[in-house]
Amino acid sequence: MEHEAVRTLLLDAARRAVVFLEGLDERRVFPEEAALSRLDEALAGALPDEPSDAQDVLARIDELGSPAAVASAGGRYFGFVTGGTLPAALATNWLASAWDQNAFSHASAPGVARFEQAALRWTKQALDLPESCAGTFVTGATMASFTGLAAARHAVLRQVGWDVGRRGLFGAPEIRVVVGGEAHATIFKVLAMLGLGRERVVVVPADDQGRMRVDALPALEGPTIVCLQAGNVNSGAFDPAAEIVPRVKAHGAWVHVDGAFGLWARASTRLAELGRGLELADSWAVDAHKWLNVPYDCAIALVRDAEALRSAFRISGAYLPQGDRAEAIDVTPESSRRARGLDVWAALKSLGRRGIAELVERHCRQAATFAAGLRAAGHEVLNDVVLNQVVVAFGDAARTDAVIAALQRAGVCWCGATIWRGRRAMRISVSSWATTDEDVRAALASIDDAARAR
Ligand SMILES: *Cc1c(COP(=O)(O)O)cnc(C)c1O
Repeated sequence: MEHEAVRTLLLDAARRAVVFLEGLDERRVFPEEAALSRLDEALAGALPDEPSDAQDVLARIDELGSPAAVASAGGRYFGFVTGGTLPAALATNWLASAWDQNAFSHASAPGVARFEQAALRWTKQALDLPESCAGTFVTGATMASFTGLAAARHAVLRQVGWDVGRRGLFGAPEIRVVVGGEAHATIFKVLAMLGLGRERVVVVPADDQGRMRVDALPALEGPTIVCLQAGNVNSGAFDPAAEIVPRVKAHGAWVHVDGAFGLWARASTRLAELGRGLELADSWAVDAHKWLNVPYDCAIALVRDAEALRSAFRISGAYLPQGDRAEAIDVTPESSRRARGLDVWAALKSLGRRGIAELVERHCRQAATFAAGLRAAGHEVLNDVVLNQVVVAFGDAARTDAVIAALQRAGVCWCGATIWRGRRAMRISVSSWATTDEDVRAALASIDDAARAR
């Protein structure tokens, strides 16, 4: 392709993206059934024999795909704690894709390695976590927990003289894994991937907000990993780290924190009390693609014991870099990888300390507005709204489901169903930079319409 054709194509992509984003306010949040059927028909064909013009490919994707996209980049998507994408992070992501850097080491991408080290340092500063921690960028909080718990598995077995990297888990001393009754589903997936077993865990019962009950902690002995949660996906509640961490660490246990979205509360002095004590843990998983509002797929794993992290993931090969420098490939499950830390650097730079705090505080205030509006309209808010999450029921399960279906059909906003403490409910998650107070008002009005008609 000539320079001129490439330039035309890339500018066309940017133009189409802008048209898409600017149209989000005017369209339904979830795509029309017709747009999805059109896509089904268009995608049914076999792999073509002949090449296509790149600009035609892009136009086809835009025509078919943009109407089929969920408007989660807009201000009225409240499903799944997804966050939107900050303009600075989106633009940086495009530029970094154009760079096409393989960010596995200084030898393959020296500039990116420097940006990522700086982004890790800023992340620790934003979250008020120890400056000396090691860390890495991975695809999501699932892989960040995988990373932290792989380091944990190495460290707790090393304490009893077992090198799990060399010998595996065959014949190894047992590791006791402790989780809360409301641990996120991904923790169990991670435990299965690490050979620690989904069902071999000790489950500590949760209280009425989903927090691990301190009075129900088991007696600890032998190699132990305790998984805490900062930000329950329904209620937003935090496990009481200040009470739990010192107690379990006194027994030599490793404490891992799943803080997928909630850990960002530590960036706000007003919200920091929720996450007090989490700085005493050994490893932390936190998403960037949720509350920090960078593009998918991007999360951060932080580990206090840099040697444990390195031992879990180091690699060797004749052509691979040797030396003392921190290389992504030695502390990350992946090898070849995109420059995902750059998106984080851009988000942190564009927000600054004050901007991050304002973002999370605004979402918590908007969640409180939702809760107050729902209560005033006679609906039942089921959780203490301490963060950005609201759980609401509209009578019994059948009526709640009917209201959710009507709300989703109306298309003004999108909220999903959940089950909270055995009860069918709807979950509202405020996590996009794009959400305005007007969006909250419009969503509340639409919820009310949906509820009145049932
Ligand atoms: C979303 C979430 C996860 C999984 O994160 P991914 O980025 O989807 O891998 C884990 N734990 C909690 C509490 C979450 O909210």
